[in-house]
Amino acid sequence: MESKKTLGELYRNGIALLGDRPQAVLEAKVLLLRAAAVTEARFLAAPDKPCSSKAEAFFLRLVGRRLDGVPLAYLTGKKEFWSIPFEVSPSVLVPRPETEVLVEKVLGLATREDESILDVGTGSGCIAVALAKELPRARIQAVDISERALRVARRNAALHKAGHIQFHRCSLFSAFRGTGVRFDFIVSNPPYISRGEWDGLPPEVRDFEPRRALLAGESGLELIERLIRRAGTFLRPGGYLIFEIGDGQRDRVLSLFGKRWTEIETAWDLAGQPRVITARRA
Ligand code: GLN
Repeated sequence: MESKKTLGELYRNGIALLGDRPQAVLEAKVLLLRAAAVTEARFLAAPDKPCSSKAEAFFLRLVGRRLDGVPLAYLTGKKEFWSIPFEVSPSVLVPRPETEVLVEKVLGLATREDESILDVGTGSGCIAVALAKELPRARIQAVDISERALRVARRNAALHKAGHIQFHRCSLFSAFRGTGVRFDFIVSNPPYISRGEWDGLPPEVRDFEPRRALLAGESGLELIERLIRRAGTFLRPGGYLIFEIGDGQRDRVLSLFGKRWTEIETAWDLAGQPRVITARRA
């Protein structure tokens, strides 16, 4: 059945409903395109096109969920990272632009076409897939403890023709224990929020994104400590460990590296925060 409203009218309704949000105009458009399953070009060319009642109801439901704080990416099922569209679901962290610093770092240090890379806690697979796009001959493995997250990551790999990425369900390095496998790069955007910081997180993050992808014990450093302690065993000498850290963690993280590590460096994100730590296995 056709609704009495046109796409343009619904769009304006959506803007009014989302009115208090800083990105109301953009969000109303993104949700309308999703609900009505039209492209932006078609919407702009024919805003007077009548909308089906089903699409109208879907749109109003999406706007309602957005007002409840559900992240936009979970409503559209998409998020761009490294200029690549990724599929996302509430089982994975929404890829963040600051994580692109990590991808840049790996590309800056890669010297061979066929580097072997392990992505620990791959989530949506954004890091592994971005690296696979840039280094098509790289041998990439990606692990996550969540089977649901791996399903999303595998879909993203297939979507972007990165079928050569191998995925494993495991905690940290357990899939490789005793195998003798050594990587050139181990990369990770681990959980790094402390229990104390948890309550202060924006509700959009705290109430909707996977807790397991964010929270890392009392200190926030639980996973980072384990990464640093164990990564050496799975890196070839001269290989790199590259991972993301949270605000204010740099000094504490740097103090965790022992004598096995050299060339320990920090990279800053666009907001001026120390965001990515690189260390080389001596
Ligand atoms: N690797 C994914 C990302 O960077 C997931 C990270 C995570 O779940 N902590 O977005």
